[in-house]
Amino acid sequence: MLQQIYPSVEHPYQFELNKDFNFSAAHYIPCEDAGKCMRTHGHTYFVNITIAGDELDHNGFLVNFADLKKLIHNQFDHHLLNDLEPFKGKNPSTEIVAQTIYTMVKDYLSKRDNQPKCVQVFLRETPTSYVVYRPKDAQ
Ligand SMILES: [Zn+2]
Repeated sequence: MLQQIYPSVEHPYQFELNKDFNFSAAHYIPCEDAGKCMRTHGHTYFVNITIAGDELDHNGFLVNFADLKKLIHNQFDHHLLNDLEPFKGKNPSTEIVAQTIYTMVKDYLSKRDNQPKCVQVFLRETPTSYVVYRPKDAQ
């Protein structure tokens, strides 16, 4: 795993959990002004998801680390992102992919009794480029 210092996010919760994982996927940005990104190409995306909350479940978990990875990795790994349902009608830019990961995690967490919140998604697309997505309504 790439060693990475992640930007921290302010939140009012007592527990904070961070899950790192990566996935490999292809994408393209179908716009004239996207330059070489118009052509289909691939990345190994590095993801860090930050979950926070005050209540733990019966296991003593905010959420199971492995479930977070499965939720995203199983759908995105070794796919052309443009073809996937969450990106229908959208360009899978780093920003949109980060926001989409947030939405998928949020929907998953909303079904849990202990109601943990996703407060940040960090998404590195290349060694020199990354996006941080923070919801405005996490608290
Ligand atoms: Zn790209």
